[in-house]
Amino acid sequence: MKTSPWVPAFCCTILAVLAMHATAAEWNLVRFESREYVTLDNIAQFYGFPKPPPVDLTGHFTAAANAAPALAPTVASLNVAAKPATIQVAPVAPVSIAASEKSSDEPAPISSKEPPPATPLSKTITLDSGKSQLEVTVGLREASINGVKHWLAFPVAFHDGQVLVSRLDLSKIIEPNLRPELIPGMTPVTTVVLDPGHGGHDNGAVSKYGYEKNFALDVALRARKLLEAEGYKVVMTRATDVFIPLEQRPAVANHIPNSIFVSIHFNSSSTNLDARGFEIFSIAPRGAPSTNDVMPRERDLREEPGNAVDLPSGALAGSVFHALLGQVPMVDRGVKHARFAVLRLCTQPAILVECGFVSNNAESTLISSAAWREHVANAIVDGVGGYKELAETKARPKVIADYRRAATSDGNGLQTGKP
Ligand SMILES: [Zn+2]
Repeated sequence: MKTSPWVPAFCCTILAVLAMHATAAEWNLVRFESREYVTLDNIAQFYGFPKPPPVDLTGHFTAAANAAPALAPTVASLNVAAKPATIQVAPVAPVSIAASEKSSDEPAPISSKEPPPATPLSKTITLDSGKSQLEVTVGLREASINGVKHWLAFPVAFHDGQVLVSRLDLSKIIEPNLRPELIPGMTPVTTVVLDPGHGGHDNGAVSKYGYEKNFALDVALRARKLLEAEGYKVVMTRATDVFIPLEQRPAVANHIPNSIFVSIHFNSSSTNLDARGFEIFSIAPRGAPSTNDVMPRERDLREEPGNAVDLPSGALAGSVFHALLGQVPMVDRGVKHARFAVLRLCTQPAILVECGFVSNNAESTLISSAAWREHVANAIVDGVGGYKELAETKARPKVIADYRRAATSDGNGLQTGKP
């Protein structure tokens, strides 16, 4: 059993490590500013990455990581074994937080949904084992796992010469993305519930080419056709231009065993016409602030119905996002986390896909193209297929590089190309 050579001092404490098996690898928990972390060295050792290079931020790194919003301490059992591993994290009793609670059921306009800006004092560390890649940046919540962006709950910290990743981010984001085959409780997928956003009097975002509600419905109808051709049962929350209250949408999936829920939206920004790209949401784990919140809220400590499936939902988000970015050339805005009604009330694995910006000139033109929407629908269906395989056979879903390799082969005439 190896241990980190680093002995924390002063405010840091190594907490007891509970191992499920006698052969368990060891996690050393570091308490720093009321939150539990693991060192990047520890992560590298556990997952077989080369040892990270030493990081010296002396003199030009001050407090970017320390400026992170402080949430109530999260503690619980951290059970990690070499194989199979489960990392369980649950927050302790809620603590009053100054931020007032308000219900946000849909992505807010992009001006208020942008995560905090990057700090110029950041330091990026890239780990590559040949099989997996992990990149983190001190001071930022933004990480890259196997080539796509994932938003962490808390900024990566730096203390006593060590790069620190929050325990919650290790257990809820890094671990399930690096070893999705170990996610417990995934059930087979026989039914896909497609949820085109908005409808009826709710137009959603507006572009010069039309309404978000109509583009979303069109992508969903295309995806339905493709899914049915592959043998899935498909249920639509709406198949026409009607208004469906938010809470009724996840309820459709909740009544169908072995179903997944895929909500389809388009993005817009009233203040930043350059905003563009794909992003995808799954439920924020209990104790984690939503990606678009700068400060944690009291509601973040509440266990939502959707939290029962937050790891499968995250895996579904990852699989669909890799499929999208691997096949449709768009900006990677990341896998994000939120407590939208459709995510927090869904007890089946659930995601919300933002398929580009109707407010961006170039993207609104793409979105107005039926061929492009078919391409997007195809990619979503591929991602769903990757998740189904994972859930049923424990096969890791393809990642962005796999899709791009396949596309290159197509381009070289080595394989039959897709339209
Ligand atoms: Zn929308």
